[in-house]
Amino acid sequence: MGQSFYTCDSCGSAMGDYSHEIEFCDCGKIFCQDCASEVGYRDEDYYKEETGEYHESTCIYCRLETIDDNELLDFALAKIGVEKEVFRDICINTKKSK
Ligand SMILES: [Zn+2]
Ligand SMILES: [Zn+2]
Repeated sequence: MGQSFYTCDSCGSAMGDYSHEIEFCDCGKIFCQDCASEVGYRDEDYYKEETGEYHESTCIYCRLETIDDNELLDFALAKIGVEKEVFRDICINTKKSK
């Protein structure tokens, strides 16, 4: 044991605990090398007067260039006023009745 696994937030593939294979975005999302460019992952070092060196990583999600499907779903459900659990049941029942 002692090895933790990460799941890519873009393609969902599991990754081992090798930092060189994983891109950790400041927003908390994790991407594999394959997806990093796809999600516009940017890793930047620049100088900030107050704090000295400053490091920042961003992706299309935290730059709000797009929104992931889960957030989009939550937003849509909130807009139409349906709880996710309720909608899930409706969806399951619809599939079952086919
Ligand atoms: Zn990936
Ligand atoms: Zn991000």
